[in-house]
Amino acid sequence: MYHRFCDHESQTPSAVSAGALARQIEYAKRHHPIIDCNQQFDDEDDTPGCAVVFTVDDGYRDFFTTAFPVFRSADVPVTVFVAAGFVDGAYWFWWDRLRYLTENRENRRGTLSLPNADPAIDVDLTKDDTEVWDAVSDFLVALPPADIEAALDDISIQLGLPVPKDPPAAYRPFSWDEARAMQEAGISFGAHTVGHPVLAKLPAAEVEEEIAGSKAALNREIGSTSHVFCFPHGQPTDYSPTVERIVEACGFSGCYAAHPKLHDRDRYSSPRYGVSDDIVDFRWKLCGAERLYARLSSSLRGKPAAPSHGAAPLGDLPGN
Ligand SMILES: [Zn+2]
Repeated sequence: MYHRFCDHESQTPSAVSAGALARQIEYAKRHHPIIDCNQQFDDEDDTPGCAVVFTVDDGYRDFFTTAFPVFRSADVPVTVFVAAGFVDGAYWFWWDRLRYLTENRENRRGTLSLPNADPAIDVDLTKDDTEVWDAVSDFLVALPPADIEAALDDISIQLGLPVPKDPPAAYRPFSWDEARAMQEAGISFGAHTVGHPVLAKLPAAEVEEEIAGSKAALNREIGSTSHVFCFPHGQPTDYSPTVERIVEACGFSGCYAAHPKLHDRDRYSSPRYGVSDDIVDFRWKLCGAERLYARLSSSLRGKPAAPSHGAAPLGDLPGN
């Protein structure tokens, strides 16, 4: 599972450089069958257990500029799960707006009061940008979507820095024209909601609108969509059995979460493993060592294992 790409050595855990991506694809081709995500679910009985599926979430433009040429040249299947409203230009992600605010703030003294926090939380603005971003995003991610927007407005005012309506280049999506061009070159696209909300926090009718709406947008813009859906954020508390049933009712044959699981055959919350520039970590995950480690931990503790520590910063968390 990938999210962001960069041209040179990665500075963040969730961005993978073009060179590292090429080495990872080459390694996977040499040691594993590589299949499309539709095949994983539609031909489940015929799929080898060691098969690898490449997926990319969200629809950032760095997929088009950096990763697409690498996947095309390697000639391996990959599916990009698109947040339809993001590619439509309706919004840019809240974690990127927060990053814009923390990196461009002139206010580097005193504290930032997190809106409506109970008990009150004051973030030390003398800390570096990453520490401020971490503290605020930990607070925002637990809020309902509307409250996140209100809190970001409040934070923008406290920092004296307006957020531009359109994202700076680093946070832009690819366009539908670019998606169509990539599709003609063999890239697959899948639904990932319209607004990228935490689905478990929404009433059932809104969950259905988000899922069906993103499927309809893909069919309208590029004429097809993967048979597989992908949860936004995708951590264990971000979806529920009700959400899984709605995904199935919307006609999908499977669905991805964004964390490792002991039961890797859960069709509507299938595990995924986030990867970084680190080829050793990549090999570790491809050979199944992380899953084996989780199973051993679980049996030693006598209870289900929590997602591994290695997965958390690379999953579909804020910033991903
Ligand atoms: Zn996402």
